[in-house]
Amino acid sequence: RNRAALGTPKVPNVKWEDVGGLEEVKKVILDTIQLPLMYKHLFSSKLRKRSGVLLYGPPGTGKTLLAKAVATECSLNFLSVKGPELINMYVGESEKNVRDIFEKARSARPCVIFFDELDSLAPARGSSADSGGVMDRVVSQLLVEIDGLSDNSQDLFIIGATNRPDLLDSALLRPGRFDKLLYVGVNADASYRERILKAQTRKYKLHRNVSLLSVAQRCPPNFTGADIYALCADAWFHAAKRSVKTFEIDTSRSNDASAEDVIVEIDDFIT
Ligand code: ATP
Repeated sequence: RNRAALGTPKVPNVKWEDVGGLEEVKKVILDTIQLPLMYKHLFSSKLRKRSGVLLYGPPGTGKTLLAKAVATECSLNFLSVKGPELINMYVGESEKNVRDIFEKARSARPCVIFFDELDSLAPARGSSADSGGVMDRVVSQLLVEIDGLSDNSQDLFIIGATNRPDLLDSALLRPGRFDKLLYVGVNADASYRERILKAQTRKYKLHRNVSLLSVAQRCPPNFTGADIYALCADAWFHAAKRSVKTFEIDTSRSNDASAEDVIVEIDDFIT
C-alpha cells in the first residue's frame, strides 16, 4: 500500500554562502530558528508560541535552498516532503502519512520538516472537489500535529514553501502555526544577480577578467536563481570542454583534465 516514501533525515550540506541575494530573508529565518535553540529558557515559556516559517514567492527563487541552508547552519536534521507525495487514494492513508512525518521528525530531533508545495497538502478546506473528503482531513491532521509541537521540545521546526499562499487553508497561518511569512522573490537589480552569481561560482576558478557584475547586467531583469544556476552550469560546461581540448593538444601532459584545470572565462557566460 504505497505509503509515503520518507528518507532518513540528515543535516544538509548547503552552506549559508551558497544562498545569494536574499540577505534580509536570511537574517529573519536564522533568527526565527536559531534564537529559540540558543536561548531555550527564554523560548520554552508557554507564553510564547513557537513560529513556523512560510516561504512564499515564484518558483526557482531559492526557497528550498534557504530552508536547507538554515538547517545546515543550525545543525538540524532536514526532512523534506512534497505535498502531493503524502496524498494517497486509500482511506485514512494520507492522514497517517502526515502523522508518520511528524513521528519521524520527532525521532530525528533536532529536526526541521520542510513542506514543499504546501498548498497542495493544505488547500482551504471545503474548496476541493471532494469537500469534507480526504483533503479536508489531511488539513485537520496537519493542524493537530502542528499544535502538538508547542507542548513538545524546542528543537522541532516547520518550514513551508509555496508559490500560492492564497490557496492555503487560513487556519494554517494562525499564531503558533505558519505565522512567519517571508517573501522570497526576484529583484530586478543587477547587484542581486551578481550576488547569486558570486554564491554559485564560489567554487569555480574564474579567469581574472571575469566580471560577475557585467554578466549580471547582461541577464534579463526577471532572471531567477534557478535561471542563474542554468547559466553557470553552461559556463562550466563550456570551460570544461575547452580544458579537455587543451589537454588533448598538449600531449606532453596527462590526458585527464581535472576540475582544477577548468578556468571559466567571461565568454563562457552566454546570456
Ligand atoms: P520551487 O518553488 O520551484 O520549489 P524554490 O524557490 O524552492 O523553487 P530552489 O529549489 O531553492 O527554488 O532553487 C533551485 C535552484 O536554483 C537551487 O538549487 C540553486 O541552485 C538555484 N538558486 C535559486 N535561488 C538561489 C539563490 N538565491 N542563490 C543561489 N542559488 C539559487
